[in-house]
Amino acid sequence: MELIKKLCDTYGPASREDNIRKIIKSNIQKYCKKIKVDRLGNLIAYVPAKSAGSTKGAGSAKSTGSTTGAGSAKSAGSTTGAGSAKSAGSTKGAGSAKSAGSTKGCNGDTIMFCAHMDEIGLIVTHIDKNGFLRFTNVGGIFPERILFERVIFENGTIGVIGVETKRETPKPAHLDNMFIDIGAKNKEEAQTMVRIGDIVAFYQQAVNINKRLSAKALDDRIGCYCLIETMKKIKANKDDLYFVFSVQEEVGLRGARVGAYAIAPKYAIAVDVTITGDIPESPKMDVSIGKGVAIKVKDSAFIGNPLINDKLVSYARKMKIPYQLEILERGTTDAAIIQIVKEGALSGVLSIPTRYVHSTNEVCDFRDVEATIKLLTCICEKGLG
Ligand SMILES: [Zn+2]
Repeated sequence: MELIKKLCDTYGPASREDNIRKIIKSNIQKYCKKIKVDRLGNLIAYVPAKSAGSTKGAGSAKSTGSTTGAGSAKSAGSTTGAGSAKSAGSTKGAGSAKSAGSTKGCNGDTIMFCAHMDEIGLIVTHIDKNGFLRFTNVGGIFPERILFERVIFENGTIGVIGVETKRETPKPAHLDNMFIDIGAKNKEEAQTMVRIGDIVAFYQQAVNINKRLSAKALDDRIGCYCLIETMKKIKANKDDLYFVFSVQEEVGLRGARVGAYAIAPKYAIAVDVTITGDIPESPKMDVSIGKGVAIKVKDSAFIGNPLINDKLVSYARKMKIPYQLEILERGTTDAAIIQIVKEGALSGVLSIPTRYVHSTNEVCDFRDVEATIKLLTCICEKGLG
C-alpha cells in the first residue's frame, strides 16, 4: 500500500515523469538484468529468460547471465521484429540491452509489458494582472471534474482551480472560463512563483475507502504498480521480458511508440485502467470494480488479438483468477500503438476497473489489482505462444 500511495501521490504529468521514474527504478533494480532510460524518458527493464532453477528474481540472472540458453530458440522464434531487431542492434534503446543479453528462453520470444508513468495535468498559458493563471489541458481533462480542486507545480507551489462567475459562463464551465489561484496578489508576485509553460498535477492523497483505493493518477500508476509487483514474483520465464514504463501516454501514446520500436516484441501486453458500468446511470458496460481483472476485447483504437485473449482467459480460468471481458467504447491505451510498430506485435491489454477515471479521485479495488498481478505473473512464467 505504501508503494501504491507513493506512486499515485507523486507529481508526474506527461513529459514530467522524472519523479515517478525514480521511484520505479529504485523498486525494480534488483529484479532485472538491465535497466535503461531512452531519449523520450521511457524506463525499460530487461528480464532475460531463465529457468526455474535459478532462485528468485532476475537478481541471480544478473550475475550469471541466462541459465537457460535454448539458444536455438532464436532461430525457431518468430519471423517478426524481435529477431531482426536484435541482430540489427538498433543503436539506441533497449536494442542494445538485447544484444548484450544473448539470452534466449525456451520459447525464445520477446514479450513487452507496458504501463504508463504519466498522468493528466494542466499547463499555464497566461498570467493576468491580478496574478490568476489561465491554462489549457495536458491530456484528457473533463472541466467539470476539476473545479475547485487543488493543483501542485513541480516546484511545490500549490493552487486552487476557480471559475468565472459571470452570468454567461457556460455550465459546466469550459477550461477557458477557469483559472488557477496560487494566492498571488498580482502578476509580478505570481511570476516569482510560476512561469508560462509550467505544468501542474492534481494535488491529492491516496486513501483507503473500505477495501478500495481512492487516489489521483491511478491511471496509470496502478498499472505501474502491477508491473513492479509482477517483476518481484516471477520465478521462471521462458521468454525475454521487457517491462516498459512509458512516458506521454496521455498526450498520444508517444513513449510506447519508441519503446516498441526499440524492442520490436513478438508479443505485447499493456496494463492500464478502464472505466466501469457499475455506478448510477453509467453507460452499459459489463465491467465492475471488484469483479476481477478486465481482459480488453476492444477499445476505440485497439482490438485484442483473439489468440492472445483466448490464452489470457484460459490462464485466468486455470488459475481461478477472477476476470471480466472489456469493451471500452471511448478511449484507448499504449497497446493501440505498440501493436502497429515495425512488423507489429500480437497484443493484449489487462485493465484495472476504475471509477471516475481522469478525475482527482479515481477509485479501484485491491482485489482487481491482485488478480491483475496474478495473471501477469502467469503470462511471464508461461508465455503467450
Ligand atoms: Zn491510462
